[in-house]
Amino acid sequence: MNLSSSDIEHLLTTSDPQTIDSLYTAAAAERDRVYGRRVFMRGLIEVSNHCKNDCLYCGIRRSNSGTKRYRLDKEQIMNCCRTGYGLGFRTFVLQGGEDAWFTDDRVCDIVSSIRHEYPDCAITLSLGERGYDSYLRLREAGADRYLLRHETANREHYGKLHPAEMSFDHRMQCLQDLRELGYQVGCGFMVGSPYQSLDTILQDLQFIVSFRPEMVGIGPFIPAEGTPFAERRAGSVEMTLRLLAIIRLLHPTVLLPATSALGTLAPNGRERAVQAGANVVMPNLSPQDTRALYSIYNNKLATGSEAAESAADLRARMNAIGYEVPTDRGDYQRG
Ligand code: SAM
Repeated sequence: MNLSSSDIEHLLTTSDPQTIDSLYTAAAAERDRVYGRRVFMRGLIEVSNHCKNDCLYCGIRRSNSGTKRYRLDKEQIMNCCRTGYGLGFRTFVLQGGEDAWFTDDRVCDIVSSIRHEYPDCAITLSLGERGYDSYLRLREAGADRYLLRHETANREHYGKLHPAEMSFDHRMQCLQDLRELGYQVGCGFMVGSPYQSLDTILQDLQFIVSFRPEMVGIGPFIPAEGTPFAERRAGSVEMTLRLLAIIRLLHPTVLLPATSALGTLAPNGRERAVQAGANVVMPNLSPQDTRALYSIYNNKLATGSEAAESAADLRARMNAIGYEVPTDRGDYQRG
């Protein structure tokens, strides 16, 4: 659907409940048209909270000395996949900080073992910025998808969220490289991050329309202890829901997660996201004792319950609002 900047501005700022309701209804209808009333489940494995970067918003940034560091070894990751497969997951997402321990050799070894043991599963990586040759090797080892939020499409804004040694151009180049290598690519941004404005949001949406990623991850910014933004206000649930719906209308075939950050800020945040056009949920398959340590923001959801429990809980929540959660890779539909 074509929405002008002024349409979008109106949708983001109106307080008319009927307009907002119609926005959510239209977005859910678009999602139903392309994917049906189905919500895909991805098993999230948080492989490491070591990170060489110092993003100002992120709780696992290098200089946060309050974070106790951990990483999972290959055996632990394979165990998470085994549990997940038994629970019906057909996508595994390996996410982590930029940890030098995860060399190309090590990640390729892990990816090719998952590919070999679970040929019917999609493997998604979210390990930050790497070089073209690294992404090539990981792709050849069997990775299908890569999530790398662009964080903001506005260069100045990027500079206020990241230290000087991090480069907006390099992040954007990574997204282009991943696309060129045939990955299903996910970009995205935080809603309500410090210094975000209506203009930067419009630029994010323009970027999404022109790049047409297979996935878009958006969730509210939530302050994290031990970071320069610890005292900032969290992003709003309402704004995130409106943006999810707008993204669905602008790019109907996109895979759109109802993120844990939304579930953290509102008890029914993920259900509301699905009702506004989202169609992916990502329960946590990480070992219970490491979940609390992957503290990218305060009070992160689902640190306690077992993988089986969180998967069953999400399935039940989705069923309760009339959505099926299939045992399916949930690949991108071209149209
Ligand atoms: N290191 C990888 C990368 O940079 O893509 C993946 C891990 S990183 C922690 C995953 C995402 O978490 C980031 O892209 C960012 O948008 C989100 N994130 C980090 N800190 C956050 C916060 N305080 N509130 C909400 N989301 C946050």
